[in-house]
Amino acid sequence: MPRTLINVSNRLPVTMGEAGLAKSSGGLVAALEGLSREQYALRWIGWPGNVPENRRAAVRRELVEQFRCTPVFLTDEEEHGFYEGFANSSVWPLLHYMPTRFRYESSWWDDYQRVNRKFAQIVLNEAREGDLVWVHDYQLMLLPAMLKDASPSLRVGFFLHTPFPSYEVFRCHPRRDELVSGMLGADQVGFHTFNYMRHFRSSVLRLLGIESEITRIRHGGRTTYLGIYPIGINAPKFAQELERPELRDQIDHFRRTFAGKQIILSVERLDYTKGILQRLDAIDLFLADHQGQRDRVKFIFVSVPSRENVEEYRELREEVEARVGRINGKYTTLNNAPLHFIHGSIDFTELCALYALADVGLVTPLIDGMNLVAKEYVAAQRDARGVLVLSEFAGAAEELLGAMSVNPYDAREVADAVAEALQMPAEQRQHRMKPMRQRVMTFDAARWARAFVDDLASRDLTPDDKSHADEAKAALSAAVRAGQRIALFLDYDGTLREIERDPGAATPTPELRRLLDLLRARDEIDVTIISGRTPDDLDSFLGNYPFGLIAEHGAAIRRPTQAQWEQLDRNVSYAWMDELMKVLKVYEASTPGSFVEIKRTSLVWHYRRADPEFGAWKAKQLAEELAVLTASDPLQVRHGRKIVEITTTSVSKGAAILRILEAQTYDVILVAGDDGTDESMFKLDLRNLITMKVGEGETQARFRLPTPAALRRLLGDAIAAG
Ligand code: UDP
Repeated sequence: MPRTLINVSNRLPVTMGEAGLAKSSGGLVAALEGLSREQYALRWIGWPGNVPENRRAAVRRELVEQFRCTPVFLTDEEEHGFYEGFANSSVWPLLHYMPTRFRYESSWWDDYQRVNRKFAQIVLNEAREGDLVWVHDYQLMLLPAMLKDASPSLRVGFFLHTPFPSYEVFRCHPRRDELVSGMLGADQVGFHTFNYMRHFRSSVLRLLGIESEITRIRHGGRTTYLGIYPIGINAPKFAQELERPELRDQIDHFRRTFAGKQIILSVERLDYTKGILQRLDAIDLFLADHQGQRDRVKFIFVSVPSRENVEEYRELREEVEARVGRINGKYTTLNNAPLHFIHGSIDFTELCALYALADVGLVTPLIDGMNLVAKEYVAAQRDARGVLVLSEFAGAAEELLGAMSVNPYDAREVADAVAEALQMPAEQRQHRMKPMRQRVMTFDAARWARAFVDDLASRDLTPDDKSHADEAKAALSAAVRAGQRIALFLDYDGTLREIERDPGAATPTPELRRLLDLLRARDEIDVTIISGRTPDDLDSFLGNYPFGLIAEHGAAIRRPTQAQWEQLDRNVSYAWMDELMKVLKVYEASTPGSFVEIKRTSLVWHYRRADPEFGAWKAKQLAEELAVLTASDPLQVRHGRKIVEITTTSVSKGAAILRILEAQTYDVILVAGDDGTDESMFKLDLRNLITMKVGEGETQARFRLPTPAALRRLLGDAIAAG
């Protein structure tokens, strides 16, 4: 039985035109049709273009029955805010390193969320257990997380067809966190190049604070795999076309039309990322430099109209047309207008004939996720006569090593490259072109889709063993049901409550308060909050609850029935503090964003607000330096979550728990914590002990939960079920 693959893209491969529904022959369609039908049964979900309200039911029926497509209909406002606004005027420019073209309106964001939710509902309606879902591109960045939240067992892939820019650029977007989190919802995220993937990981670290390995990101108890899948062209379509007599005729026709001229061809959507104006500068230079060539060269531009409802695109078109006119005005001779500009699309046979005939393929985007035109030019060069001049900023440049690589901002370099290409000896042209053609015809769109989908289908998505906390929940609720005595020792920051950048802001939320109220109402449950914070912090956050409070990692305790704090470290010396303080101060000074906290029983260097990579590197250095300095003292250096802390070995959370248990016995004891300072609780050798780690990282705890919210849910549910 083939496995269902639901392909979700903004546009359906069948769209509504004036003459009714028509199948498009885009690259994505070819890629997916190249998948084995025995392995995968394909369905599509997407927007079919504008369909009047009264025809939607009939169009839907036709799409579903004849094309296995489910339409997502959009209102005019949604189309404007979601597509023209948020996707194309806001996300697109930033993904292409153009913050100056970035626009933002909050109503666009509303539309973008609404449309992504619309897609999510339709996917969730269609998807069955075991299906694969493949979401495409920047219009649907929120969709993976929406799908996974609603249906965690669904296998979701996401492919970004554009570049992913440096964090410094992506951070300009007011919704950057949501966009990155949305993508991270996928089980597998694919990019064209390693650089895009590296920048994505950097944004995940800097925006969400989540560390990653090169090809995977563990977060919230699951893993998102990352991979590089450079998209290819529809190779069989080109191979077939090259055999057709009609193509031969077309080539002959163009040969006659352009007799005696060398052709330099550029093909693209009319988009500011394609470097058209910069290319015109280079052509201007070339024609100025090579007077003798003005009759003998033809620069052909095929500029396919694009996004004409967006102002930036209209302006660009006007500017390009004006520049083309000026250049032709300057250099046209009696025999030749050197620039031939077509604003429109041409049919496939004409395109192939131009590709085959052109002496130079001039492809100079300022930035481009991949650029298929470069690969198509190479594919049509069966006799390897032509030369590809290619921008180093196109994703395709990483594969097309036989191209003449140029910086599209450097008009002089581009003009010289054109001149050199036009004179290149035949042998050298062949030598450059042949291996590229071999690669382009082999690693085509179908291979790309197979690689992505096969990986998505075979990823191991079973969560970390320790995350199966159901057993802990069952034990706890059984104890509640049986009326047994239960002790809960709960760390606060990162365990019961999400970490905040500013520690003072991590007060109990209304949701946490509801849980704490539930706990205080149960006589058989004794709660102790056990934290590294000061007694003052704990008093102000939790002083009103009848709970035991343990502060400073076990140095101070306030028992439930008392108002006063009791010191557990009366015989401990803190003479070491002054010396080590000097060391911490050096690190504070050299690490912007870090600071030293002096507690009564410990010294802490915090680096949560420092640059995440620089901070982690300095923390490792500090921990190593301190380990040497304290080797012969009864001190412990702990590298916890974004802190390095020095405490005495006689004080620990584990030791504090043992003190409490001297006076009380329990049937079940649950301890929960999130960082290295909690491991002393997990190591306790006690009967009926349930140990629970919250979040990632090495641990001795038996169970693991991904987030504080998951712990709150588990405690609430266990008590309610009891
Ligand atoms: N193309 C087309 N009609 C034309 C000229 C070009 O359909 O008149 C196609 C071209 O064959 C290529 C695509 O448009 O497959 C452009 O893809 P590319 O990756 O170069 O750029 P994008 O438009 O995706 O930014």
